[in-house]
Amino acid sequence: AHLDQIEAVDGTINAFLYVDAERALEQAAIIDHRIAGGEQLGPLAGVPLALKDILAYRGAPTTCGSKILEGWIPPYDATVTKRLLDADIVILGKTNLDEFAMGSSTENSAYGPTRNPWDTSRIPGGSGGGSAAALAAFEAPLAIGTDTGGSIRQPASVTGTVGVKPTYGGTSRYGVVAMASSLDQPGPCARNVLDAALLHQVIAGHDPYDSTSIDAPVPPVVEAARSGDVSGMKIGVVKELGGEGYAPGVEQRFREGLEILAAQGAEIVEVSCPHFTYALGAYYLIMPSEVSSNLAKFDAMRFGLRVGDDGSRSAEQVMALTREAGFGAEVKRRIMIGTYALSSGYYDAYYGSAQKVRTLISRDFAGAFEQADVLVSPSTPVTAFPLGEKVDDPLAMYMNDLCTIPSNLAGNASASFPVGLAPEDGLPVGFQVMAPPLADDRLYRVGAALE
Ligand code: GLN
Repeated sequence: AHLDQIEAVDGTINAFLYVDAERALEQAAIIDHRIAGGEQLGPLAGVPLALKDILAYRGAPTTCGSKILEGWIPPYDATVTKRLLDADIVILGKTNLDEFAMGSSTENSAYGPTRNPWDTSRIPGGSGGGSAAALAAFEAPLAIGTDTGGSIRQPASVTGTVGVKPTYGGTSRYGVVAMASSLDQPGPCARNVLDAALLHQVIAGHDPYDSTSIDAPVPPVVEAARSGDVSGMKIGVVKELGGEGYAPGVEQRFREGLEILAAQGAEIVEVSCPHFTYALGAYYLIMPSEVSSNLAKFDAMRFGLRVGDDGSRSAEQVMALTREAGFGAEVKRRIMIGTYALSSGYYDAYYGSAQKVRTLISRDFAGAFEQADVLVSPSTPVTAFPLGEKVDDPLAMYMNDLCTIPSNLAGNASASFPVGLAPEDGLPVGFQVMAPPLADDRLYRVGAALE
């Protein structure tokens, strides 16, 4: 049924870069066969899933939305992919994204933008717009995203779906093509809170292949999603995330979300995180610095595309031609900013200062979590904007990540849950919940109470 739906709508939505119907049906047939044989199956046996095209899936092309990886087929599975397969999930294909997950609208994909199923003239968010749109268009019931500065939560917000960025180190980055390693985190995407928790449970947990993976039990996310009990919970509204620049309908639905929680016995308090104002600035130095280092491996020799290798050119010339042709404008912009920020003479002023701000933001969180069990805000300042509206204005595009970025800088758990439609445009609004590291279960408790 999901393959049929993809066939019917994906010509318009463009959520998928790659669908392998034969492989999916074969996986499903094997599961049927094992059921018939009375075998014990994995916890999500037979449930179809859409995988963001930045996670390795053995034998399937992995492009990261970039021309530079054209033709590259990973010979191995990411740990998350392996855990999906071990749970007997059926992988339908790979979903569209901004090139190397850099963007907030999926318009930076080298393979064309994804469209928002609520209004196909609008963006589905980014970078994981393909995964979110696949859910909203009923092309898949589950999806995987990755979140470096909001790429799971912002698309969830503008498509009316659920997206969770686990605690940094809670899910493995092994086999996830790196954007900014100290920020990247794969996580679950779904249409409802319990589905997201069931997926979270399957993919999370310690992985010796990822040196930043936390060796601790997975928080009780499924129990929390089933309970939804928020009585006595202290909910901290972050003063700095709201007000000017936020759409009236976004603020209205956010306030109604607070009322729903209060009606179930939660206590609403206001908290202040004064350094959040500088989060965007710090992120757009730290992230490109890591990008400039991580993307150095695309050298025309090791992976994918190779341009101009006709025997007349040096390795350096081939590398330059390949990068020129293979990387899009936003990727080049970030490599240049990062190289500059890390260069000797500027390192302390830019990268060093940004790291200090990062520490101040973590301290803001620590202080706020002494006053509240979770922190909340709108997930994004505005609803889905029209395709093309912000493509020529990188700063306007970056502003979308205002609410989501602090959690990446601090490494805590964070999620976006749908809270209805903005009255002025009828488009989905997301409610962001942030929890301390390894308290991911609190996200689901609040999400379930809102549902
Ligand atoms: N939109 C943000 C960026 O462009 C976040 C991206 C992400 O989380 N991968 O960097």
